[in-house]
Amino acid sequence: MSTRSVEQAHLRHYGLLALFVLLLSLIGIYWRPLGQLSTLWPANAVLLGVFLRLPQLVSAPGWIAAAAGLILADLLTGSPLLLATSLTAVNLLSVFVALRICSSLTATQLSEMRPDALPRLFLAMLTASAAAGVSGGLVTARLLGADPWDAGVIWGTSELLAYIILVPCVLSAPRPRTSSARDSLPVVARRLAPKLIPAASLLAAFLAGLFIGGPGVIAFPVSALLVCALSCNLFQTSLLTLAFSLWTLLGIAFGNIAMPFDTGSTIELLSLRLGVASTALAPIVVASVMAARERNLALMRHLAEHDPLTGLLNRRTFHQRAQALLAADDTRGAPAAILMVDVDNFKLINDTYGHAVGDAVLSRVARKLRESLRSTDLCGRVGGEEFAALIPHSTPAQIESVTRRIHEAIRSEQLRVSDPHADHLRVSVSIGATLSQGESDDLRSMLHRADLAMYAAKQAGRDQTRML
Ligand code: GH3
Ligand code: MG
Ligand code: MG
Repeated sequence: MSTRSVEQAHLRHYGLLALFVLLLSLIGIYWRPLGQLSTLWPANAVLLGVFLRLPQLVSAPGWIAAAAGLILADLLTGSPLLLATSLTAVNLLSVFVALRICSSLTATQLSEMRPDALPRLFLAMLTASAAAGVSGGLVTARLLGADPWDAGVIWGTSELLAYIILVPCVLSAPRPRTSSARDSLPVVARRLAPKLIPAASLLAAFLAGLFIGGPGVIAFPVSALLVCALSCNLFQTSLLTLAFSLWTLLGIAFGNIAMPFDTGSTIELLSLRLGVASTALAPIVVASVMAARERNLALMRHLAEHDPLTGLLNRRTFHQRAQALLAADDTRGAPAAILMVDVDNFKLINDTYGHAVGDAVLSRVARKLRESLRSTDLCGRVGGEEFAALIPHSTPAQIESVTRRIHEAIRSEQLRVSDPHADHLRVSVSIGATLSQGESDDLRSMLHRADLAMYAAKQAGRDQTRML
């Protein structure tokens, strides 16, 4: 990209940021007349989430774009310039404080909302809200003649609530898909089916709140939200938590959910907002722990199934998956092939160049082997310098062509090892191949035949394939 087009792209990003902040600020402003209780200022929380997710935007132009969006929203809705700039300064101070506190967190900790990042993230939200409460209270008291305590409490608690319910949504939002392929309806239905119970329990909790009302309403959906956190991903849980918080606040503000106290009183407003914020925290923390557990389980599964040196399936997993593939209905009838691939004179490579070079040769052979096969073929490291592959739906002609590809790839230039003494090291493999012979044939016999064929290839002079 030329410098000019890079500059244009940057300009577009900051323009979009300003527009986005303007839109969110207008939502916040038009939301206000619904009453103090429902006050929700989404601009700061979403801006913090965007800045945490896209740190490249945290720059002078980024701050200027955000300030422009905030000021413009106030000016467009009739605020005088002094008030608009003062309110904007309070908003940006809040986001700045939160960003400073989060600065020690890594991009991965934030994008995955890892449990070890949560205490600092919540501390950042709390401190930023306190900063917004104090400065916002003073500004509105001075410019609008409001009571500083009331104004500070309203500002600070609404800021905290917005941070808690909106930042997780922005941080955990999935990236846009690069491929345009859409999942089919049955696939989507199968994916959504396990979420029906949590969704139904959340709906039941909402309805119970509507009909029963009273101070317990805030806690009604906790169990349902925890069930959601156990069965939905972090983004889905964050969205449901957002829905719960908005439902509760709007339900009370509009009088649909009956409350036995004066919702206009500042201290009760403080209590209500802190109650909703604390309730919202529980499912988010649980979903974050569940996501970390899923990642760890996936990592452990990968380690248990793969060979650490080459990244191929290990012997046990190769056998398990090959057995399952052979037993699957769709491979019955069409012959499957087993290849046994053994590196030639590998002991000599080890003895001449050392084990580190030997290891490098093994991982390169594995990569070439994997690249020579289709993604539907299985491939594993079944011994020290022995690899096996299972190729479903094969013919002798296909086997000949795939083994030729493997021999050529492994002999190729790229397999030179970057060791000064081993610069011209050439590696070759001997391959034994066999095709399944009817339904009574099994993996054990096929591996045995492929092994015999591989030894025949060795005896015939190595660097070739034999079929049996
Ligand atoms: P042939 O052509 O007949 O197969 O001869 P070869 O030397 O390849 O076979 P042999 O079975 O004599 O030697 C295999 C060697 O592979 C012996 C062992 O030390 C080495 N080996 C096994 N696993 C590893 C490993 O993970 N790393 C390295 N560097 N060497 C390994
Ligand atoms: Mg061997
Ligand atoms: Mg060997």
